[in-house]
Amino acid sequence: MDKEQKAIERIKTASDMSLHHYKKPLVCTYSGGKDSDVMLELFKRSGIPFEVHNSHTTADAPQTVRHIREVFQRLELDDIKCEIEKPTYQGVRTSMWRLIPKKLMPPTRLVRYCCSVLKETGCANRYIATGVRWDESTQRGTRTEFEKIGHTKADKEAFTTLMLMNDNDSRRRMTELCMQKNKMVVNPIIDWTHSDIWEFINSEHIETCELYQCGYDRVGCIGCPLVSKKRYKEFADFPEYKKLYIHAFGRMLEERKRRGKESKWKDGYEVFLWWMEDDNIPGQMTIDDFLEV
Ligand code: SF4
Repeated sequence: MDKEQKAIERIKTASDMSLHHYKKPLVCTYSGGKDSDVMLELFKRSGIPFEVHNSHTTADAPQTVRHIREVFQRLELDDIKCEIEKPTYQGVRTSMWRLIPKKLMPPTRLVRYCCSVLKETGCANRYIATGVRWDESTQRGTRTEFEKIGHTKADKEAFTTLMLMNDNDSRRRMTELCMQKNKMVVNPIIDWTHSDIWEFINSEHIETCELYQCGYDRVGCIGCPLVSKKRYKEFADFPEYKKLYIHAFGRMLEERKRRGKESKWKDGYEVFLWWMEDDNIPGQMTIDDFLEV
């Protein structure tokens, strides 16, 4: 069976389970990225009833937001239910920039509180599908679809670190369960490679976000700490986002001061340089300095 057919079979199986256990259609989560567009096409080809859900991160590029809206408009014309969920924190509408002062630290690779608040709050009590793929993990190729959790060193580590639904991690499984939110997850394209994705997009003429034609190999939150040095291009292309982060870091320092917490930086710009892993600034704080948060 080829990968397309295999993915469609996974979607159909998950759909049956969703209708049986949750009495509701499977949800295709949609970020506006290429993997999401592939997923959406596979969902349409599967012939199952489904809904589409997007978490509005507030830090996506305008082109990504526009692409999501356009795709959703077309889906709604086909009577497919679509939802763009705006994030809230402690019951109040929030954004990346409001969250940073509240959390008293910038989001980092190790502490991705932004993902939990901005991307993963929706779809409780639902069966969802994501576009997570092993190919994005450095440990790819060592995984199997149904490996038992707890049998490998990576799994043991999983119990001591936080794994988020959109992590492309080698610990991911084809099907997963989030006990906290009573949410089941299927990852139908988990075994697709980067080339599989682009071959499918090109052969099936699938429209993707215009940023892929502007030198981007991923779309998502501008300034995401997971993409490390690629953020330099992002901030060069989207300088307003850089200003928003610097301003949020400045308000974060004020809030730390108000709460009597130590800070070694004098302003939001110094925090920004540290965050960008620029080694040329004085008074470096390490992630350990924040861990009390
Ligand atoms: S994708 Fe990156 S920046 Fe966006 S919410 Fe997740 S960790 Fe934060």
